[in-house]
Amino acid sequence: MTTAAHSAQAQYDQFRQRGLQLDMSRGKPAPDQLDLSNDLLDALPGFRAADGTDARNYGLGVGLPEARALFGGLLGVPAAQVAVDSSASLALMHDVIVYALLNGVPGGQPWVGQQPVFLCPVPGYDRHFSICEARGIKMINVPLKDDGPDMDIVEQLVANDPAIKGMWCVPKYSNPSGTVYSDAVVRRLAAMKTAAPDFRLMWDDAYRFHHLTDEKVRIADVLAESASAGHPDRAIVFASTSKVSWAGSGIAALAASPANIAWWTRHAGIRSIGPDKINQLRHVRLLKDAATVEALMMRHAALLKPKFDAVLAQFGAHLGDVAGVSWTVPKGGYFIDLVTPPGFARKTIALAKEAGITLTPAGAAYPYGVDPEDSHIRIAPSFPSLPEITQAAEGIALALKLAVAA
Ligand code: PMP
Repeated sequence: MTTAAHSAQAQYDQFRQRGLQLDMSRGKPAPDQLDLSNDLLDALPGFRAADGTDARNYGLGVGLPEARALFGGLLGVPAAQVAVDSSASLALMHDVIVYALLNGVPGGQPWVGQQPVFLCPVPGYDRHFSICEARGIKMINVPLKDDGPDMDIVEQLVANDPAIKGMWCVPKYSNPSGTVYSDAVVRRLAAMKTAAPDFRLMWDDAYRFHHLTDEKVRIADVLAESASAGHPDRAIVFASTSKVSWAGSGIAALAASPANIAWWTRHAGIRSIGPDKINQLRHVRLLKDAATVEALMMRHAALLKPKFDAVLAQFGAHLGDVAGVSWTVPKGGYFIDLVTPPGFARKTIALAKEAGITLTPAGAAYPYGVDPEDSHIRIAPSFPSLPEITQAAEGIALALKLAVAA
């Protein structure tokens, strides 16, 4: 054993003896973040919507007018192009895929039977990939560069293969890398020629308001860009208040062209007689408008930023001089992507586990759970307390240091 390996082993063993037990496998808001929205408990202004609708009853599959207006303001689209439904945007994404498979989207035939394929920028969000895997959509990896997906590859693939029906995009503060798509990339996605006439961008704007710096990054509007490029139906935008109010009982929305909204409304109306409008009503009372949401998100950032900084400081201190190791420094969102030399993610995660730290499984950020280089570890700093996350980041760094030294 080299001296470096000896010292890495000693540091790791010492850490392990602390007997830490921490689950960092998912990016959940911490209890103090959830507390920021406790006024929801008393926010219900009766049960009548502004237009007199009785929110307790069935109906209004596209959501209450004021909830549509709230998301319209947040997403920069007319309320008529918004449907508010469910507590989870993931459920809306899932349903869009299922309706597309079984019935087809406007301008196309049912995807099922056409051996549909999706492009998946990687590293990406594991649950997007799980939807495709579970519903029989084949996935093709596309490298995610610093400014978004590698567009030379994307354009080439979609232009030539009519089986490519869609693409997952987390355009701002991507999960897990924090990547922000450049305006040029958004425009290319909106304008590119696709062999499939019914191609869809699944535009998951999960972190649209989730800034960690004062920069408050803004990116090009994919709906407007697609419409002006002659593809008004191309993008379906998803968002929710999961990490604004309460992750398990927020409200979710999709925004799209009038044709896509009409299509969604038709199919969602088969699935349900209407969403939980009581929850919509109290969210509208709490969140009010884009300015109120922005102020609330600054309070989230004040709780989250020190945790991200603590992780980055530990990585800097312990991994700064380890060859082949790097990590992203996100300006928003919920994750940091720790990049190991090829072949060391799995081993590092196992060592961290032995030291009491449960991480997202290696490969989770890739379709079929296979990271071809075995080099990405998703770090989710939000849920543990600041002292816990500081220790956990140290433990992860020491695990990686040992993995590469041993
Ligand atoms: N999209 C992305 C990219 C996410 O990271 C998450 C949460 N981890 C979600 C969607 C889930 O959103 P929701 O709670 O609205 O289903």
